Parts: sequence; C-alpha cells; structure tokens
Amino acid sequence: MILVTGGAGFIGANFVLDWLAHHDEPVVNLDKLTYAGNLHNLVSLRGDARHIFVQGDIGDAALVGQLLAQHRPRAVVNFAAESHVDRSIHGPEDFIQTNVVGTFRLLESVRGYWVGLDDAARAAFRLLHVSTDEVYGSLEAAAPAFTEQHRYEPNSPYSASKAASDHLVRAWHHTFGLPVLTTNCSNNYGPYHFPEKLIPLMIVNALAGKPLPVYGDGQQIRDWLYVRDHCSAICRVLEAGQLGETYNVGGWNEKPNIEIVHTICMLLDELCPRSDGQSYRAQITYVKDRPGHDRRYAIDARKIERELGWKPAETFETGIRKTVRWYLDNADWVAQVQTGAYRQWVQTQYAEA
Ligand code: NAD
Repeated sequence: MILVTGGAGFIGANFVLDWLAHHDEPVVNLDKLTYAGNLHNLVSLRGDARHIFVQGDIGDAALVGQLLAQHRPRAVVNFAAESHVDRSIHGPEDFIQTNVVGTFRLLESVRGYWVGLDDAARAAFRLLHVSTDEVYGSLEAAAPAFTEQHRYEPNSPYSASKAASDHLVRAWHHTFGLPVLTTNCSNNYGPYHFPEKLIPLMIVNALAGKPLPVYGDGQQIRDWLYVRDHCSAICRVLEAGQLGETYNVGGWNEKPNIEIVHTICMLLDELCPRSDGQSYRAQITYVKDRPGHDRRYAIDARKIERELGWKPAETFETGIRKTVRWYLDNADWVAQVQTGAYRQWVQTQYAEA
C-alpha cells in the first residue's frame, strides 16, 4: 500500500492512474479537492478496490495519523499543494497554509507513524516529496541549466512556499532521520491539466474561439516534460533513489512560451481546422506581463539519468501532439472543469495590455 496526497490533481491523478496500470499494490489517495482537485480525473478507477479515495487535508494530523495507522503504507508520495503562480500573487495565504504548514504537519504525522514501525518496515519506508524547478529562481539566457547544487532563489509566493517545504523535508531527514526523497521537476504538460495553465488554456481558448493570452513578449523560457514521464521518474526515485537526496527531473526541452503557442496553433490547424480557414494564430493576444515573471527555467537532469537510469519516453513533439489530441477527444472533461467559479477567476486574470 502507498499513500498518495493530492492524487486528484493534474500530476497526482496521472500518477495514480499510471501506478495502478503497472502495479497491483493499492493506493490510498488523500486529496482536499480544492478547485484543482477533480475526481473526474479518476472515473476510470470507479469500482477498483485498489484505489481508496479520502477527501481531506494533509494538515489534518488526526486524519492523516488515522489513515497511516489503518492502511500502514510502505511509502508516501506528496503531490498535495497549491500550484498556480498567478493565484499565489493574488492570494498567497493558501500557499503558505498548504505548502508550508501542511507539509510540516504531514512530516510530523509521517514521522510519528515511521518511528512506531518495526525495524524491517522502518528500514523500507520512504516519503517522496514532489517539488518544482521554480525554487531555483530565474536563469540568465546563457547560464547553464539548474543542477541539484544550484542555490534556492524563489521569486514568487508559490516558489517560496515550495522552497520552504523542500527545506522542511530536508531538515526532517537531517534532524530526525526521516527517510525522504525530493524531486524538482520542470513544467509538466499532458492530460487532465487544469485549463488555467499555459498549454491547456491555449488549447481550450483556441477551440472556443477566444483570445490566446500571451504574457509580455512571450519570450519567457520554460523547460517542458510530458506528465507521464514525470510519473515514471517519481516511480524510479521511489524505487531506487538514495535517501536524503534530491533529483532534478526534466526533458531537455527549453522553449519560449510564444513557440509553445505557435506549436499548439499549428497542431490545431492540422487536427481541427477553423471553419473560416484561418490559422488559430489569429487569436493570439499579448497581455500585461505577470509581476516578477521569471525569464528562464532549465533543468539539468543528468543526475537522475546517470544514477537511476531514467529517461523520458516522449520528445516535446510527440508529447504535445498527444496532449492536443487528448483535449480534442475529451471535451466532456473540459466542460466539466469549467465551472462558474473557474470562469470568474480567468476573467480577473487577463486584462488586455
Ligand atoms: P494541482 O494544483 O493540479 O493539484 C494539486 C492537488 O492537491 C489538487 O488535487 C488539490 O485538491 C490537492 N490539494 C491542495 N491542497 C491540499 C491539502 N491541503 N491537502 C490535500 N490535498 C490538497 O497541481 P499539480 O500541477 O498536479 O502539481 C502537483 C505537485 O507537483 C505540486 O506539489 C507542484 O508543486 C509540483 N510540481 C508541479 C509542476 C507542474 O508543472 N504542474 C512541475 C513541478 C512540480
């Protein structure tokens, strides 16, 4: 049995689906079901006794303690977080509560459980904390990609809260001996991605005939990884990672945002042409840049490749094609996540430049 937190969100749901496709070992999935958590992501697991879903907060020590005592997992994978940078600028409080206080409480609950295990179970146990490359801050154009040795320089409330959580995880290992692993991954894309993030937002808006809002000059560079490759990296680290170590995860796919938008337009022009024959590019609209917007992230993934033999299965070209295809084939999912509350949020975000 493993305990996954945040397993109804984008990456967590992909992870749970992948895990149960490849393992018989059951999953307890603890998720608060914030706006970003969506049980619709997991409908294919309905009736599967290997998936036990529990709605709740990682910061609820009584609940987490009870789940650990009842299910006795051999591992915990922590995806639960507030994850959207724009939201962290407009309302940082939830980010501190979940990403900092929640991670602290989870660590304490897990520590209490772990010390009570018998010797063999204690030696086998591990907690994997899922984090981001954004903790390293912004890179100059010619600077080498982030290695695990790069110092932490978070610039947004989101990345600062994730950096704090990484430090807590590290300290619980060094101070209390808790067997932890941390992964710092680049930007993910793929199925079940909530349409407030760049790639799904562009696909969904394009198909709805709406503007494609590009921040500033669109030259911000991000490093992209197909979500299922991130999931395979997490499995690999869980299985073979060295306790107390951190692993950068990335696909060596640095792209300026505007290039991503052009690629999506090109794929949609091919797979679902506009009825007027024009390219979806006609919908691109430049909007006011986000305050403190980091210019470039790039991940050096050589450690996980060298030490654990992990490699992504998808190139950006194959992954983005699969992703666009998925959104075209899953219009029901898109309609389901676009609730009134979601629409209201999006309207407040994209003021014309
Ligand atoms: P997401 O926002 O899609 O999902 C987060 C999930 O956590 C949601 O299901 C939400 O309901 C749940 N959650 C939030 N607060 C909770 C709480 N207090 N208790 C229990 N559950 C709670 O995020 P995501 O994109 O799937 O990211 C998952 C993790 O991976 C995060 O820790 C994020 O920092 C990290 N990460 C994301 C990316 C990316 O590109 N999306 C890249 C690297 C790392």
